[in-house]
Amino acid sequence: MSGSLAIIGLGPGEARYLTPSALAALEAASDLVGYGPYLDRVPARAGQVKHGSDNRVEVARARHALALAAEGRAVAVVSGGDPGVFAMAAAVFEALEAGEPGWRALPISVEPGITAMLAAAAKAGAPLGGDFCAISLSDNLKPWEVVTHRLTAALTADFVIALYNPISKARPWQLGEALALAATIRTAETPVIFARAIGRADESLRVLTLAEAVPEAGSADMSTLVMIGASATRLIARQGAAPIVYTPRSVTKSPCATSQGRT
Ligand code: SAH
Repeated sequence: MSGSLAIIGLGPGEARYLTPSALAALEAASDLVGYGPYLDRVPARAGQVKHGSDNRVEVARARHALALAAEGRAVAVVSGGDPGVFAMAAAVFEALEAGEPGWRALPISVEPGITAMLAAAAKAGAPLGGDFCAISLSDNLKPWEVVTHRLTAALTADFVIALYNPISKARPWQLGEALALAATIRTAETPVIFARAIGRADESLRVLTLAEAVPEAGSADMSTLVMIGASATRLIARQGAAPIVYTPRSVTKSPCATSQGRT
């Protein structure tokens, strides 16, 4: 039997957010590789072997998956959300690049999934209607100075900014520092979204101002995506319902005006 490797995005939560294509790839697998809690989301199928691992060993896990595929197994590597967004697809290609030359002959496919930023944006309205970017606040894989440098550039350029990996027990202060930095460049009224566990039974969405969000940083956790609005991002208030957050598609201010952020 010739092996194969599918790198699969499970979407943000429940199975209804999984694409039919990703589901078909999961069903075709003989072996599933991934972080334990993600593997738990995949329904057990008779004859399928699950290889769970710790969250911090991405490249080792990717090597294991490639080695299994090279032995002839039909391997599926699973990630939450999209596998190409701060997740396993890049780890697999890193392992492929540095690994056995024979691995490059394996059929490898990537099945996209709904990433947290898109699931959160859909819940809030249309905050990503204008130009946006995504930044991971984790400094496990890059120095914190790189994070603050990129954040400052994105804030100055007036992007809507999605912050992945905002906080964890091992990284308790980064989100507070990032929001405090944002408050030096954007106005106090800038909408900030805390979107938690979107697509799951316990999902929650909070819309704050930047001034309110800074002292609330500690209320976020590893399942939260934080979104900082651009200067044009606004709210539509509704009676008895959460406000809609959106960013108009048209930009009327000149780059010079928006780069100051306080016009
Ligand atoms: N590959 C994933 C992201 C992995 S990084 C994706 O495409 O979504 C992990 C971070 O993603 C978390 O710390 C959190 O910021 C965000 N995240 C993942 N699932 C989420 C969800 N259901 N709701 C809100 N944020 C989520």
